[in-house]
Amino acid sequence: MMNEAGVEKTFFNHYHCSAQCITSAPGRVNLIGEFTDFNGGFVYPVALQFRTYVAYRLRADDEVRVVSHNYPDESDQFRVDEVLSSGGCQWGNYVRAVFAIFQRKGYALRGMDLAIASNVPQGAGLSSSAALEVALAGAINEALSCGLTPEQLALISQQAENDFMDCQCGIMDQLVSATGRAGQAILIDCADLSTGFAPLPEQLALLVINSNVPRKLVDSAYNQRRQDCEEAARIIGLNSLRDATLSILQQYRSSLTDNQFARARHVISENHRVIDFHSALKDGDIQQMSELMRASHQSLRQDFEVTVPATDGLVSICDDLLGNTGAARMTGGGFGGAIVCLCPHQRVDELCQRIGRAYPEQFGLQADIYMAQAGNGLQVKSLDVMSV
Ligand code: ADP
Ligand code: MG
Repeated sequence: MMNEAGVEKTFFNHYHCSAQCITSAPGRVNLIGEFTDFNGGFVYPVALQFRTYVAYRLRADDEVRVVSHNYPDESDQFRVDEVLSSGGCQWGNYVRAVFAIFQRKGYALRGMDLAIASNVPQGAGLSSSAALEVALAGAINEALSCGLTPEQLALISQQAENDFMDCQCGIMDQLVSATGRAGQAILIDCADLSTGFAPLPEQLALLVINSNVPRKLVDSAYNQRRQDCEEAARIIGLNSLRDATLSILQQYRSSLTDNQFARARHVISENHRVIDFHSALKDGDIQQMSELMRASHQSLRQDFEVTVPATDGLVSICDDLLGNTGAARMTGGGFGGAIVCLCPHQRVDELCQRIGRAYPEQFGLQADIYMAQAGNGLQVKSLDVMSV
C-alpha cells in the first residue's frame, strides 16, 4: 500500500509507535516549456495524483533513522549534530541531502524517525526525486516549526538536488510539487517564480507514456545545450534568452554557430508557445493546444535535437490518431524518456491499443502508459492530538 495508510503502517512496523505527522508531495509532468527553465523562461507542468508520503516522529536525540516501503531491504541512519555527507545507501542520500540544506541554512535540527512510501513511478520522467525531497522538506519544516512557505521549501529541495546530489535541475519539478493544485496546470515564470493556474479540459485524459528507451550520455548533452544557450545570450548581449526575440536573434545570425542559433530559436519560440498555451487552456481551445504541443515537439526535434526516433514515433502515433482533438509531445529531459498526451476520454482505449501494437513493431520496445490526473501539491497532516 503506497499511500497514506501504507506509510503509517510502514512507520508503525519499524518503530513500534505511531507517526506524529504525515506529509506528501506529488510527481509531475510538464505539458509545455522544455529547456526554458534554465534560461529564465516559462514552464507549464501539472502536479500528478502519484505521491510520495513521509511519516515521522521527532526523537529526543540527534539520530535520524529512515526506512522506505519501496526499498524494504535497506535503511539509512545518520546524526544531525555532525556535518552531513553522503552515505552508502543510494536513496538515503536524498534524505541526507534535504537535512543537509536545512543544516547549512542554520536550522537547529533534531533527530527523527522517518518512513517513506511512494506510488510515483521512479525513473519514468515523473520526478519521483522531487516528490521525495519536497515531502521531506515539508516534514522537517513542520517538525521544527520553521514556518517556511511552499516556494521556500521548493528552493531548499532544488538545492538538495543541485548541491548535494550533484544534479543541476531547474526549479520546475520542486516548485510544482510544492504548489500544484488538483485539476489544474501551473504556469511558472522561472525568472521570479511567480505562478498562474488554469484548469485542464474535462474532456481530455492526461497520459504519460514512457518510451523505455535507455537514456545515455544525457548529462553531457544537457550541459552542451545549456552552454550553447548561455553563449548565445552572451553574444546577443543579454543575461538570458528570456529577454531575446526572434528578430534580435536573426540580427545576430552571423555571429552565432548553427547550433547556438538553433538552440536559442527553440528557447525563444518555446517561451511564446507556453504563454499561448496558457491562453488556449483558459479558453478551452483544444485545437490551439494541439498545434502548440506539436510545434513544441518539432522544435525539440529539429532545433534542440533532444528527441529520439522512439519518442518521435510515439508522438506520431498519437498525432495520427487524434489530430487536433488531442495533443502530444515529448516531455522532460529528452534523449528517450516520456511523452505527454492529452487524449479525449473516449479514445483512450483505442490509443493504448494502437501504441501497444505499433510501438513494439516499430521500435522493439514496450511503452508504459500512465493514466495521470492533476493532483495537489505538498500536504501536511498532523496525527498527534497532543501536538495540535
Ligand atoms: P526521477 O525521474 O523519478 O526523479 P531520479 O533518478 O531523479 O528519477 O530519482 C529517483 C531516485 O529517487 C531513486 O533512485 C531513489 O534514490 C529516490 N527515490 C524516489 N522515490 C523514492 C522512495 N519512495 N523511497 C526511497 N527513495 C526514493
Ligand atoms: Mg529526478
